[in-house]
Amino acid sequence: MAELAPMKKPAPAACPTCGKPETAQARPFCSDRCRDVDLNRWLTGAYAIPAVEEPDPDDEAEMGEVLPLDRES
Ligand SMILES: [Zn+2]
Repeated sequence: MAELAPMKKPAPAACPTCGKPETAQARPFCSDRCRDVDLNRWLTGAYAIPAVEEPDPDDEAEMGEVLPLDRES
């Protein structure tokens, strides 16, 4: 049956970057390096939003019915 693991003592949270136990001076990371890595990941991730090219609705729209697959590219 499902049995919860006995909680003897609160385990330190795992470093989000590398998974090692966090340290007091760099919580919630294990080191300043991992904190920087995570911060960098956030920043680059925030700015690295993939550009989505939306199809131009006006492209060849004046022909009335335009089949999406019948488009010259
Ligand atoms: Zn770490």
